[in-house]
Amino acid sequence: MTNYLILGTGVAAMGAAETIRGVDKSGTISFIGEDPHGYYSRPGLAYYLTGEVDEKLLYPYRPQDYKALNAHFYHGTAAHILTQEHIVELSDSKRIPYDRLLIAVGSSAIRLSVPGANLEGVVKLDHMEDAKRILSSAKRARTAVVVGGGITALELAEGLAARKLKVHLLIRTARYWSNVLDEVESEIIEKRLKDEKITIHFESELVEILGKRGKVSGIRLADGQQVACDMLAYGIGIQPRMSMAKEAGIACERGILADEHLRTNLPDIFAAGDVAQVYDPASGRSVIDSLWGPAREQGAVAGMNMAGKNMAYLKAVPFNVTRLAGLTTTIIGAVGSGHDGDPVTIARGDSETWRDVPDAIIAQSGFDINHMRLMVASKTIVGAIVMGDQKLSSALQTIIRDRVDITSIREQLIAPNAPLADITAQFWAKVHASRN
Ligand SMILES: Cc1cc2nc3c(=O)[nH]c(=O)nc-3n(C[C@H](O)[C@H](O)[C@H](O)COP(=O)(O)OP(=O)(O)OC[C@H]3O[C@@H](n4cnc5c(N)ncnc54)[C@H](O)[C@@H]3O)c2cc1C
Repeated sequence: MTNYLILGTGVAAMGAAETIRGVDKSGTISFIGEDPHGYYSRPGLAYYLTGEVDEKLLYPYRPQDYKALNAHFYHGTAAHILTQEHIVELSDSKRIPYDRLLIAVGSSAIRLSVPGANLEGVVKLDHMEDAKRILSSAKRARTAVVVGGGITALELAEGLAARKLKVHLLIRTARYWSNVLDEVESEIIEKRLKDEKITIHFESELVEILGKRGKVSGIRLADGQQVACDMLAYGIGIQPRMSMAKEAGIACERGILADEHLRTNLPDIFAAGDVAQVYDPASGRSVIDSLWGPAREQGAVAGMNMAGKNMAYLKAVPFNVTRLAGLTTTIIGAVGSGHDGDPVTIARGDSETWRDVPDAIIAQSGFDINHMRLMVASKTIVGAIVMGDQKLSSALQTIIRDRVDITSIREQLIAPNAPLADITAQFWAKVHASRN
């Protein structure tokens, strides 16, 4: 009987446990998880902050789902992996043996390191406890400063604005999310944020958080400007939690290195989800996808291989539907502008692949709430951003994922002011008909 041990209780961990139990009914499955709330939707925290979603809707599992896993849960922090002995030691010194181990401990928010970062009222958004802390601070605050230029910072800004705080958003670059969005798209989001009364400070560098009696009272920027506030929230990137793996001698680069079977360099140890930098045979690169869907899929494939099957993880085209300044936005494949911003920083709900600057011609149409950008290579579309009307996003996902030959419409797509949506819709209708 195999003894499976899974570190973490996030989506990668659950994906693994489900597939293990699917193929091995008798093995022992144990989890070590430090989050007191267990398994919940982390992307859903943004909607919890705005008040649109009640906490209980964030939990995907019902009691019968846990029962079906027939697993044992240890609440605690895994501290050391003793690879020779096949044991994981918790921070309270409890020792748990394993035959096969999965490291699925995710990533954590990069901490602010300016003076004043420890003051009361300085918050980040990593997990449920953070979200609760933010809501409790917001009750007593009137003005908030939010630091960061990606999705999480925007979610914080909008969550706090929805709680009736006056919000200042500090962005280091000259425009919003500049290494993924192009100028037109950044402008659309910035305009909508202004309409929501969120004040954006571009090219601003926070140098100090000011405090009074241990609490946040304002901030100071590199140019000397000061902004008074009683709360500061930040989302400045994430880092895979790999210190325990490194200490155990597991090979790491930007994340724990895993092959396409999600195996690390050490026997019987696998890694999946935000913590893993996974080899992609198609591109020959090892990539970190900080996205919910890939984490679940990687967990599932790791679980299969832990249970003795032989399954390779084939990286799907990154696909994310998110909401930016209230605008539904789908990002598919490689879309990066790559002109500015820090290409090394990973953000929540982000894929490294988005930042790739594809060898493609940009075709763009629409403005304001209905906007579409396609990255058109010689025979295929390699990336797309769809803002507003989402009728074509699923079609585009298939066209990009299946590398559908678009030679017949390429000239039309790249013509100036081409009606991209119409061309794509007509093309998709033909493709779809030929497949059915
Ligand atoms: C606010 C927010 C918004 C997001 N938005 C999106 C989005 O729009 N789209 C999208 O695709 N993705 C989004 N994401 C990212 C997505 O949630 C992650 O990619 C996904 O949760 C990664 O899953 P995981 O299982 O690898 O790690 P996690 O979900 O981080 O789970 C890791 C678990 O391990 C536990 N753990 C860590 N260290 C230890 C230890 N030493 N011992 C025991 N347990 C430990 C943690 O407590 C946690 O429960 C968002 C994330 C956040 C926080």
